[in-house]
Amino acid sequence: MRIEILNTGTELLLGTTLNTHGKWFGEQLFKLGMRIQRLTTVPDGDAITEALRECVGRADAVIVTGGLGPTSDDLTREATAAVVGAELIEDEAALRSLEAFFAARNKVMADSNRKQAQVLVGADVLPNPNGTAPGIYVPPRLNKAANCAVFLLPGPPRELYPMFRDEVAPRLVALAGLSKPPGMLELRLTGIGESDLQQEIDAKLAAIPGLEVGYCARIGEVDLRLIGDDAAVAAGREIAVSMFAKQIFSEDGSSLEATVVRLMAARGLKLATAESCTGGLIANRVTDVPGSSEVFTHGFVTYANEAKRDLLGVPQAMLDEHGAVSEPVVRAMAEGALKASGADVAVAVTGIAGPGGGTADKPVGTVWLAWAAKGRETLSLRQIHPRNRKDFKLAVSQAALDGVRRLVG
Ligand code: AMP
Ligand code: MG
Repeated sequence: MRIEILNTGTELLLGTTLNTHGKWFGEQLFKLGMRIQRLTTVPDGDAITEALRECVGRADAVIVTGGLGPTSDDLTREATAAVVGAELIEDEAALRSLEAFFAARNKVMADSNRKQAQVLVGADVLPNPNGTAPGIYVPPRLNKAANCAVFLLPGPPRELYPMFRDEVAPRLVALAGLSKPPGMLELRLTGIGESDLQQEIDAKLAAIPGLEVGYCARIGEVDLRLIGDDAAVAAGREIAVSMFAKQIFSEDGSSLEATVVRLMAARGLKLATAESCTGGLIANRVTDVPGSSEVFTHGFVTYANEAKRDLLGVPQAMLDEHGAVSEPVVRAMAEGALKASGADVAVAVTGIAGPGGGTADKPVGTVWLAWAAKGRETLSLRQIHPRNRKDFKLAVSQAALDGVRRLVG
């Protein structure tokens, strides 16, 4: 079944409101075994009629959001009536529920709200317990333009989401006549690039009948998406796990930091961080995870040399001799944090985020990382991430957390 989404609203194209409907509908429809074929966003006004005409000509079902309000720019009902060739009439029940909505809030209904009770003749009125605008469902048999179902839904997520769940999803499932929807498994990997992953695994996955494979690169991470029936997904998973057991940190969508917290909590281990160039991002990511208080003890943000010296005990002579971005200093930071915190594992990072401050032997993007753990040799590693400051910090925090994961995993 070809499904198209048509988001209406000038605010979505002015950069003032983020259009979150695409992501949300994508997830919801996938759970029903359906996909969005096309997602269109148009401003309020005539553009709606034109876009709807195109969508209806291509799709089996079109979901339109927004423009069901009481104001003069809310024109979705009128546009739809014109496109599908139906009349608008005032619906008694819809009017009564509008009046009840205002009465329950001790408010007088404005005259302009009355137009929200207008529906297309013969269409289903979809109740909206969370707002004033009811939704409308035009089944294919009412559509004089094409054999296509049209749903008109309110824009605000708190009205849209329940209406989709209660009124739209069951109708879509009936229209599609679906059996069991396919499953999806998303494996998240770190420590390998997207192209290397694809080069090594793609041909093997392609040999599995009925398996759809996708890759998504992020900073310091690649997601491998497997879609298909249970057997195909399981076969794909087995190949991926046998090849990349070390790199896969999540099979259920959980983040790297959540994986670190889970692993450390299960082993009763405590973590401290000593951060220079990431400015606390590693600690921030760890403490985003519910339950991190079981694991996380100290986050030292030691940006200046004095802070590295006074809080972590990095010797001034070492800083003078090797510079703050150096292997001896990062090791001293990690070991100092371990000692000062009493944690079981401490991770430290020090680097040059740029854009200034680079030299020939320490270019912008250079970072030293170290992991100190009770009763273990301290590990250290140099990496180069020549990126903007934000992405540099994210890449470094990713490498730091991955080192912790491998140490405690
Ligand atoms: P409406 O009156 O139904 O056109 O929608 C009004 C409000 O719903 C907008 O001002 C937004 O706050 C929200 N909204 C509408 N469409 C979207 C969308 N695609 N993504 C996120 N919010 C939206
Ligand atoms: Mg609007």
